[in-house]
Amino acid sequence: MRKYNFYAGPSTLPVEVLEELKEEIADYHGEGLSMIETSHRSPMYDRVHEETIELFHELMGIPVNYKVLFIGGGATLQFGMVPMNLLKPGTVGEYVKSGSWAGKAISDARTIGQVRILWDGKDSGYTALPDPVSLKPGNDAAYLHLTSNETIGGVQWKAFPKTGDIPLVADMSSDILSRTFDVRDFGLIYAGAQKNIGPAGVTVVIIRDDLAAASPENLPAYLRYKIHAEKNSLYNTPPVFAIYAINKVLRWLKARGGVAGIEKLNTQKAEAIYSVIDGNPGFYSSPVEKSVRSRMNVVFRLPSEELEKEFITRAKDKGMLGLKGHRDVGGCRASLYNALPLEGARALADLMKDFAAEKG
Ligand SMILES: *Cc1c(COP(=O)(O)O)cnc(C)c1O
Repeated sequence: MRKYNFYAGPSTLPVEVLEELKEEIADYHGEGLSMIETSHRSPMYDRVHEETIELFHELMGIPVNYKVLFIGGGATLQFGMVPMNLLKPGTVGEYVKSGSWAGKAISDARTIGQVRILWDGKDSGYTALPDPVSLKPGNDAAYLHLTSNETIGGVQWKAFPKTGDIPLVADMSSDILSRTFDVRDFGLIYAGAQKNIGPAGVTVVIIRDDLAAASPENLPAYLRYKIHAEKNSLYNTPPVFAIYAINKVLRWLKARGGVAGIEKLNTQKAEAIYSVIDGNPGFYSSPVEKSVRSRMNVVFRLPSEELEKEFITRAKDKGMLGLKGHRDVGGCRASLYNALPLEGARALADLMKDFAAEKG
């Protein structure tokens, strides 16, 4: 029996996608070999590669002057690649420090060049976000970087700043494809695949052409966006299995009404959990400011660590996995990515209600 998987990443995938992969793994569409055995320059793979890029454009409304790139190394490599490519001498990389992931992006940027923290959530314990309108990039800014959803802290931007000529850069690893937004507000978006897009192994980078073209010459080839853009992510061997699986996830998403369709479901899923938290104020609590609560990663506490432990065990016995909070913040966390069905969120909400009634 498939369990409900609330892990933060790698995380649940649509069962339909897994079944299809199983079906095709040894012999892709009668070709007599697997997609992961063929050359990344063969027509068989090329069709999947091209279609996956097209599906990103279609599902996210990505304009033609942006490239969709597939790069290895995780979102973590992008913490370095962004400043290596965009941070020119005399300019400053501006960052919003919204939590753990933003903090990692900032530490890596500091090894490359000059960094300015435009806003820091320290005083709130990283449970709040700035008003996007209040953020004013400096004239010397090479870009403004934000983390659209802090996977560990459970805070999520609901609207994004308009930065004019200063490129807005976003780490969207844990909420890409979960909601609609205007890609044109951004110069560069990156996301590790293993939360909302597919299996681990590839990071999707969406970059405006002028920014890709400006990669400095004095970087190793693999670290230059320009090379990946010119070679259509085939400069070297791309993570073919991950891209092949992503192709199926995107088709699955398209068949479910695309991003707008899944956004409705994601809203319902998050409401199912938050309403139990708010409905049992003496028992459950959310550390996050209400207006920026994440719909992807719901962080919550019970009255004691002992009860949290007991709750996580109870959930596990009922086939609900991955509810332990990140070690940095403790408590519980339910990750409600696109592929988690509504029934999964409802089952968790029911368990939370029962548990509060029993122990509260
Ligand atoms: C998971 C995560 C990362 C790190 O991703 P890797 O692919 O493991 O490098 C970075 N940023 C955010 C917001 C994440 O959720």
